[in-house]
Amino acid sequence: MAGQITQPMVLIDPSKAHVHGNDAVQMNITAAMAVANTVKSTFGPSGLDKMLVDVAGDVTITNDGETILRKIAVEHPSAKTIVAVANTQEKEAGDGTTASVIFAGELLKRAGKLIGEGVHPTTIIAGYKLAEAKSHEILDGIATSVTADDRDLLCSIAATAMVGKAVACDTLAPLCVDAIQMIRNGTIDVFNDVMIRHSVGKRIEDTELIHGIVIDKSRVNDAMPKRVKGARIALLTSGIEYRKFGKMPGGKSKDKVKIHSADELQNLYDGEESAIRSDIDVLADIGVNVVFCAQSITESSQSYLVKRGIIGVARVKDADLEAISRATGATIISNIVDVEERDLGAAGLVEEKGAEDEELIYITDCTDPKTVSLVVHGGTEHVVEVIEGALNDALRVVADAVMDGTVVAGGGACEIELALRVRDYAATVGGKEQLAINAFAEALEEIPHALAENSGLDTTNMVTALKSKHIAGAGAAFGIDIYNGEIVDMYAHGVIEPFRVKNQLLKSATDATTMILRVDDVLASERKELTPAPGQAPHDYDRF
Ligand code: ADP
Ligand code: MG
Repeated sequence: MAGQITQPMVLIDPSKAHVHGNDAVQMNITAAMAVANTVKSTFGPSGLDKMLVDVAGDVTITNDGETILRKIAVEHPSAKTIVAVANTQEKEAGDGTTASVIFAGELLKRAGKLIGEGVHPTTIIAGYKLAEAKSHEILDGIATSVTADDRDLLCSIAATAMVGKAVACDTLAPLCVDAIQMIRNGTIDVFNDVMIRHSVGKRIEDTELIHGIVIDKSRVNDAMPKRVKGARIALLTSGIEYRKFGKMPGGKSKDKVKIHSADELQNLYDGEESAIRSDIDVLADIGVNVVFCAQSITESSQSYLVKRGIIGVARVKDADLEAISRATGATIISNIVDVEERDLGAAGLVEEKGAEDEELIYITDCTDPKTVSLVVHGGTEHVVEVIEGALNDALRVVADAVMDGTVVAGGGACEIELALRVRDYAATVGGKEQLAINAFAEALEEIPHALAENSGLDTTNMVTALKSKHIAGAGAAFGIDIYNGEIVDMYAHGVIEPFRVKNQLLKSATDATTMILRVDDVLASERKELTPAPGQAPHDYDRF
């Protein structure tokens, strides 16, 4: 994966040290809009990809707005605020990042125009806040309900989030729905409850959902059993190695041993060997048949584990040990001699699967049913990473829909309905705020506009046709069928999004916009240290 791109985007005139009043506001708006515009062409299922190249020459090709904004080096504070919009959206809703950034950019663009026409930023902020509040109210009204058992609808939600990002949506969307169904008791924490594993080699269609944990490791020794039913699991932060020679538990110190003769050395080896054997005997006697270690398992320990029929897995990551601990109820122990029967975890089956060098260990039928894993198969690492990104979005939107129980129509449907009704509302408010409220409505219309534009459709005709359909009272569900250039019912068409995504979008974009509009004084410090020395990471200078 490519690192941070270190060439900063220069968005302001560096010769100006102090900018005040409307100039400052306009400058901040320009900077923020520049960032928002970078992601516009990626929006929607037909959005284009961007190629990001970092200083090391690593290339990332992505169509994901949040990834792009995470990777480009943005330096201007108000431009950073736009990046923060994407981050907040990602954190709170897990999807809709590009839309929220586009919307924020459009709000700012229109604010800039109004300021140019003599409207005070404070009035614009007030108008935008009123429009946002009204939009939430309208959105509540047009949202429809969904239950966790409504499988078809949830599959459509998952597919809507993935389309354009991942192929094989038809196979992957139901897997995401099943994954969320398995963990839906209580709060759903996609990040911790669903583990995503990579497996390069097979086809995307082979991607599997496992009710349990999958770790990217293999048995230390091929003579160990490949499959253990009724697993009794021990977890160690150390390894199974000679204690006197190896690292002490915790990795801090080593015992010093002085050896004077070959016999002495042999005795020492024998002593260590028998100590390890008795440790392994204790494990076997309390019923352990699988042991996961964070450190290594020496060859002689391996053969003794083989003898006692125990599967040994070495160099397991801490995060994986913790996941196994959660799923199986095992306690993580630092030293093998301290393992007791009550520390062991249980799983119905532990099994190694996969071709040579691509083995994975599957721990299934665990005591905690809230652990699921998706093993993503794909031809190359890049393909697998893209699929992982798409799956993350899809899992999040299904979780959002299940947790809130509400959804809205996609394809620009709900944005255009909001725009029309916000405009009606503007007329009732009057005054200069009305101008800002109308600007808010126009900015909302830019979302279907961008969808149409990125799909190569005649934007003016599409947006006009969409509006007419909504004005004619066809219902809030009509949006753009981007593949056929028609206005259709998005529920019937299967383009559906969680309420949370749209609700958060309104909030994150309006918050960021009002924050930027509030700044009317920009002070620059010296610019000279800005260029980093060769080989030195650029500093995060908050100059303004
Ligand atoms: P974001 O980062 O905002 O999620 P995406 O590139 O994922 O951006 O595009 C999401 C937008 O694409 C949403 O507005 C959604 O309604 C729309 N969309 C997804 N699938 C379709 C489709 N088949 N037809 C029309 N619009 C679609
Ligand atoms: Mg999306």
